[in-house]
Amino acid sequence: METLTIIGAGLAGCEAAWQAAQRGVSVVLHEMKPERFSPAHHLAGLAELVCSNSLRGDSLENAVGLLKEELRRCGSLTMEAAEATRVPAGGALAVDRQLFSDYITAKIAAHPLIRLERGEVTDLPAAGTVVIASGPLTSDALAEPLARLTGDRLYFYDAIAPIVAADSLDMTTIFAASRYGKGDGDDYLNCPMNEAEYLRFVDELVRGEKVPPRDFEKIVHFEGCMPVEEMAERGVETLRFGPMKPVGLSDPRTGVEPHAVIQLRAENRERTMFNLVGFQTKLTWPEQRRIFRMIPGLERAEFVRLGSLHRNTFINAPALLLETQQLKSDPRIIFAGQITGVEGYVESAASGFLAGINAACLQQGRPLPVPPAETALGALVHHITNADVRHFQPMNVNYGLFPELAGRVKKKEKRQKLAERALERLEDWRAGL
Ligand code: FAD
Repeated sequence: METLTIIGAGLAGCEAAWQAAQRGVSVVLHEMKPERFSPAHHLAGLAELVCSNSLRGDSLENAVGLLKEELRRCGSLTMEAAEATRVPAGGALAVDRQLFSDYITAKIAAHPLIRLERGEVTDLPAAGTVVIASGPLTSDALAEPLARLTGDRLYFYDAIAPIVAADSLDMTTIFAASRYGKGDGDDYLNCPMNEAEYLRFVDELVRGEKVPPRDFEKIVHFEGCMPVEEMAERGVETLRFGPMKPVGLSDPRTGVEPHAVIQLRAENRERTMFNLVGFQTKLTWPEQRRIFRMIPGLERAEFVRLGSLHRNTFINAPALLLETQQLKSDPRIIFAGQITGVEGYVESAASGFLAGINAACLQQGRPLPVPPAETALGALVHHITNADVRHFQPMNVNYGLFPELAGRVKKKEKRQKLAERALERLEDWRAGL
């Protein structure tokens, strides 16, 4: 059997190497550190947590807690390392960053089937199974062949608008309509504002606290992804001629065009989540919650994803990848981690976990197992490979990605039932692995 090549020994690459090796596959794992460091990496060890030392909430109330539980049950190296190096952090799973990296580095170094090769990879192997897990700060020398491989569907910045849960919207205020009645009538949901509401909102956007950009993120924003608060700073009317323009949208309750409108577009086919169109932002998270809940109809909005704008190398996964994370145009190549358009430490590890299993199956001539969409693992990979190609932006795991439960379920019991269903389906899937 040929050796499996994995590029990048971050969270996804290490998890993928471990899963493949545990299934009897020989792995060469390439890591450019310490020869070369991205602007955010500083440790010489593997699986470095580049910013916060938290793997976020640990309760099944949060989809990321469920994802961690699924990974634990499936024998994830990331979760084993996190438990071994845990530090107190209330309801979150936080770790000692150095010990976490040391733990994974030692496990990888000691595995008889994994060979770690230090040095920057600048081209892709012409043959054999390859897992690309070079992360959100993939080196420039590798980004070039990746751009060619993906037909320039490789992006270097994300511009994420907040996403809200459909069942938290006040539909007595919001109306469904497309501009000038084009397309399906209810393509967009519209939050109408009168003049006083608009002026107050613009003022809060201008005054709201912003996240300062990191040194390597000081970019000139092109018009298509200008932060909404920067547009507001250009003049009080700018947003009314941009993402908040009301023309062609009459409110069926009044029969007139509102002073301004915030449009919501479905984020997934199931229409369980909607994004605020054109509302990419660098406002801090508490400010986003406070200011965006001033929007009529969003007073009680549940934000499944807050907005952001940062340096992030990722591919257009729905256009390029199969649900097995294989490249459609060359299925011996599998993508893993943040570069696939998942967002977050745990999500990246989860993506690496699936890539490792899939790469091992590919090497061994076995069918590739896709996790059920009802599990957190499955919901995440299903989303990134089936999202709207035209508006694809990175996504973290959240309960809005899961298929609806059958029958009527009380809102406060919904998450618990989704988690119970996920863990049941996970056990069936695991048994078949
Ligand atoms: P990485 O963990 O970055 O691993 C990729 C590895 O590939 C690196 O070790 C890199 O050195 C190596 N590599 C790159 N190019 C090459 C090459 N050409 N040859 C060989 N090796 C190469 N998520 C959170 O959940 N919480 C946070 O607080 C958080 N903060 C972030 C801060 C920043 C600045 C960034 C960019 C991202 C952050 N993320 C955060 C998002 C994401 O979860 C992490 O980036 C995560 O580490 C991604 O995992 P990964 O395995 O895909 O990539």
